[in-house]
Amino acid sequence: MVLAQLGGSISRALQQMSNATIIDEKVLNECLNEITRALLQSDVQFKLVRDMQTNIKKIVNLDDLAAGHNKRKIIQQAIFNELCKMLDPGKPSFTPKKAKTSVVMFVGLQGSGKTTTCTKYAYYHQKKGWKPALVCADTFRAGAFDQLKQNATKAKIPFYGSYMESDPVKIAVEGVERFKKENCDLIIVDTSGRHKQEVALFEEMRQVSEATKPDLVIFVMDSSIGQAAFDQAQAFRQSVAVGAVIVTKMDGHAKGGGALSAVAATKSPVIFIGTGEHMDEFEVFDVKPFVSRLLGMGDWSGFMDKIHEVVPMDQQPELLQKLSEGNFTLRIMYEQFQNILKMGPIGQVFSMLPGFSAELMPKGREKESQAKIKRYMTMMDSMTNEGKPVLDSSNPKLMNESRIMRIARGSGRQLREVMEMFEEYKRLAKIWSKMKGLKIPKKGEMSALSRNMNA
Ligand code: GDP
Repeated sequence: MVLAQLGGSISRALQQMSNATIIDEKVLNECLNEITRALLQSDVQFKLVRDMQTNIKKIVNLDDLAAGHNKRKIIQQAIFNELCKMLDPGKPSFTPKKAKTSVVMFVGLQGSGKTTTCTKYAYYHQKKGWKPALVCADTFRAGAFDQLKQNATKAKIPFYGSYMESDPVKIAVEGVERFKKENCDLIIVDTSGRHKQEVALFEEMRQVSEATKPDLVIFVMDSSIGQAAFDQAQAFRQSVAVGAVIVTKMDGHAKGGGALSAVAATKSPVIFIGTGEHMDEFEVFDVKPFVSRLLGMGDWSGFMDKIHEVVPMDQQPELLQKLSEGNFTLRIMYEQFQNILKMGPIGQVFSMLPGFSAELMPKGREKESQAKIKRYMTMMDSMTNEGKPVLDSSNPKLMNESRIMRIARGSGRQLREVMEMFEEYKRLAKIWSKMKGLKIPKKGEMSALSRNMNA
């Protein structure tokens, strides 16, 4: 998972502090040192980390905190706020409006995932009712136009480019003019990358930008570039008016901390992250839910968004109601397994819950996970009493050996597998119980929910 290791280290540091009987200077310093180490290991720029540490110490002045104050909570909140501050440049990026045509230009080094991200960005908006179009102004890399054409065709998005023309500025201008005439409301210009930052690349970018006058320039950055992120992002910003950042390949093993540094270098927010090679492996990036997730607090607003996005409308109220009751029965598990098998993407919903997807449905092992879920369901099918299913009333804690043996026999599975299924149930039930009392928001009320859950 994204920055999982960093999140784990920070959570552990906070936990260790919570375990201490008294929180004094020494305990606070140990906690902060641990967090500093974790951030540096994740490639966050040294200066940013040092500033963060100083800020927290300033806020958490232990001597000034009156006795009885919850020091742990104050420290935790300070760390949460500082991490958010690192990722939040303090001003939102330009957001295209449907009523008016917007030109968005993509820049980044070759291989950063720029072309793929252009299509993802177009596809994301198309799904929301926009009329996007793609222009390939990358004349440097052989095959760039073919790649964009292929992606665009797959997503049914109009595109413009040329095999013959070598002047990227000319192509960019022609493409933008054409799609303006066709009343496209979001014109996306993909520019050339190079293997490294070079004068020629920056000059070309500057010219394309001058000629097309983009409303927004998005800097695409590969999450694995590490400590180089700050300098790279800054170099781009010095040539064109970068207004937003998209960090790609957050699904890989990258440490990802460079993303935090890029925000500081460009003074622009991360607006999306790429989480895979496919068109829909693309997530809106919101600072607070991201940091919550990083600290193992769960991304509640993302979770609710996903429910609205992928669970059929008629099933939403029931699912949310069950969540708010916090009572996870075997039947709910069975129904959610049915949903996972039927609809695929609902798995994404559960990946928003801490601990849910990583173990049950690890990425890249979907086939195995599906087989496992089917196995669990066969076992649950055989949980009958006089021919009737007993999923609602069965309490796995009270399962005795003979019941477990009956289930194993009935489903043709081994005892070990039945026990494993119950373990899985217990694990999920524990997570589900955290949702108890969940306020059921309507669409658009997500940020309020997020505030409640993180308070
Ligand atoms: P460009 O040279 O910057 O235009 O990069 P491309 O769009 O051609 O991407 C380079 C490689 O990275 C391709 O193999 C993409 O499929 C892959 N890629 C792009 N974004 C992601 C992502 O978010 N996750 C993963 N795993 N791969 C990505």
